[in-house]
Amino acid sequence: MNKNANVIIIGAGIVGATCAWRLAQAGARVTVFERNAPGSEASQAALGSLTFHAKAKMPSEFREMCRQSRQFFPAIIKELAEVTGERPDYRAGGQLLIAPAEDDLPILDLIYEINARLNIEVERPTPKECRLLAPGVNPNIYGSLFFPDDASVDNTALTLTIVRAAEQAGVAFKRGTVEAVESKAGRVTGVRCNSQTHSADWVIVAAGSWSGQIPGIPLLPVVPIRGQALAVATQPIRRSVTSPRGYIVPRGDGQTLIGATVEQAGFVEANTLDGLREVSAAGLEISPALGQGEFLGAWAGLRPGTPDNLPFIGPFAELPNLIAATGHFRNGILLAPITAELVRAAITGEKPLLELQPFLPNRAASLSVPEPGQTGDAHHL
Ligand SMILES: Cc1cc2nc3c(=O)[nH]c(=O)nc-3n(C[C@H](O)[C@H](O)[C@H](O)COP(=O)(O)OP(=O)(O)OC[C@H]3O[C@@H](n4cnc5c(N)ncnc54)[C@H](O)[C@@H]3O)c2cc1C
Repeated sequence: MNKNANVIIIGAGIVGATCAWRLAQAGARVTVFERNAPGSEASQAALGSLTFHAKAKMPSEFREMCRQSRQFFPAIIKELAEVTGERPDYRAGGQLLIAPAEDDLPILDLIYEINARLNIEVERPTPKECRLLAPGVNPNIYGSLFFPDDASVDNTALTLTIVRAAEQAGVAFKRGTVEAVESKAGRVTGVRCNSQTHSADWVIVAAGSWSGQIPGIPLLPVVPIRGQALAVATQPIRRSVTSPRGYIVPRGDGQTLIGATVEQAGFVEANTLDGLREVSAAGLEISPALGQGEFLGAWAGLRPGTPDNLPFIGPFAELPNLIAATGHFRNGILLAPITAELVRAAITGEKPLLELQPFLPNRAASLSVPEPGQTGDAHHL
């Protein structure tokens, strides 16, 4: 990277903000354009589950990306506390996976096998152990797995604290909608924002579900996948629990978050009665005691989905100084730290922490965009 390279980032969700922070620390002059308040889209709608274990249909490169990113969290929380004085609620209490129906057992068996084979720590609690791990869990479940290394974080507080740390490192967050990315002779020259041209040596696309909509960006099939979730003011279980149909995440303030639908509904960020019924049912199946909790509210957010459920990270072949950092679908909170490391390496020329090839945006042309209604990975385990 040229000393003092001028970097523009489109979008101040957790991904854009974390990239901005790490690039400013590396010496870049960074401006982030955000059309709303920082952290107000998917990064606020998430439940903050940090799932370390391997899921059933996970390519090995993606599993490794998740593993590495998860490991950054304790150090990031510590660093944020040192530089901002704020410590987002981070819970390293593990995650329980349960089979509320007999039909759910085969998928639990498969997940156990995959993780045991990969030497990822996994336990198979007896019913009694399960009740000790999670008093309040549905007493009629058919089986469970426990992953002690899974964690959760208050994603809203985390994103806003990263924005603060980035500002302290010199990043300028500016309100504005990027209308186009401008380029000349195979190089990006800057962006058009608020009807003005802003020049840049590098532009990073971190606009979440809207990343593929910005004129001037080569093909980038990012599809909004709506997630509806709700919160109740009770905490029958003090650790994260997931079933095939939903998951609950307890927060430090005594609330329990329950999520989430996985729907293709265009760019409509609204709750529906069907969606809330589905989420409530999933929560009650995990813990009937949640039904007594005061209902605190519901929300909906758009996950940046991709046709192959893998993020787009790295330079575009057509415009090498335009970098994608988007399409993190259900894992953007978990993957923000590694994404920022990879983006920084792409710009500074350092060796990346992992092979970027499977995540490069040039695979877009070979992917077929799912039809509306097809959502890819809707299973929660
Ligand atoms: C209900 C739900 C539950 C989830 N649970 C989890 C979870 O437990 N764990 C996990 O890891 N992930 C979870 N996710 C996924 C996670 O929220 C996303 O992957 C992540 O927040 C994506 O971050 P982002 O910064 O890419 O996008 P966003 O947070 O959406 O940020 C993109 C930003 O770009 C801005 N923008 C867009 N276009 C422009 C433009 N033209 N000009 C300027 N600004 C622009 C937007 O305003 C927005 O602020 C969940 C998501 C949902 C909806």
